[in-house]
Amino acid sequence: MQAGSGEVPMAATAGMIFDIQRYALHDGAGIRTLVFLKGCPLRCPWCHNPEGQEKQPQVMRYENGTEKVAGRRMRVDEVLREVEKDTVFYDESGGGVTFSGGDPLLQPGFLLALLKASKAHDLRTAVETSGYARWEDVEPLAPFVGLWLYDLKLMDDARHRKWTGVSNARIHENLRRLTTSGARVIVRIPLVPGVNDDRENLAATGRFVASLGAVGEVHLLPYHRAGMSKYERLGMPYTLGDTLEPPAEEMQRLAAILQEWGVRTKIGG
Ligand code: SF4
Repeated sequence: MQAGSGEVPMAATAGMIFDIQRYALHDGAGIRTLVFLKGCPLRCPWCHNPEGQEKQPQVMRYENGTEKVAGRRMRVDEVLREVEKDTVFYDESGGGVTFSGGDPLLQPGFLLALLKASKAHDLRTAVETSGYARWEDVEPLAPFVGLWLYDLKLMDDARHRKWTGVSNARIHENLRRLTTSGARVIVRIPLVPGVNDDRENLAATGRFVASLGAVGEVHLLPYHRAGMSKYERLGMPYTLGDTLEPPAEEMQRLAAILQEWGVRTKIGG
């Protein structure tokens, strides 16, 4: 059975999760549960969930000598059971479930099964993604996604490759197709000083988003170092150690560049 033809393949009813966080107030409207799927095709050095990049479980070694495995296989019904614990809060706040990562599109069959099950349980859904996936994997998901939180990092392809390891061509094409098909999308830009906070990149992003027409809003997410200690726990180098968090007035200045293109812009998620 092909994904998207109505039935969910049995093999896709379990997948790799590395975290489930309840009572989240970002990543979609209202009170939300965030489900983090493991695996991402990009390698952004500012990533604050580095334990989400590899597909397989990884051991995290803590300063006090304890260890924790990031990543476990869960079935769709197990995930839904966790998510449904907070239905009363979703109903009161207009919240729901957000599938994040890593990039959840790296497990398209599992994500489709999660989205279908969520819809069957009347849950509002959001998907947070880098957009780097085959359109054949994205398209079947769209009817079950209430809101796409769609990252744009760098408009210049060479710079995108340098900082993330992949081309942005597919990311842009998927975003164009989603907006054309009427999907509800918020574009998110993680603003990293010295990487993508220049006028040229922001103006190119503003021009591109304005050309899409249907994007509801752009969220500028200031760089932060919250995930830095995880790198040490995973035995990975953190290469942006000297990068400082951008001050509020700098974020305002960068937002103004996007607004020059008529793009509704908000600082924060
Ligand atoms: S796309 Fe997101 S999850 Fe993937 S490496 Fe970049 S920041 Fe991390």
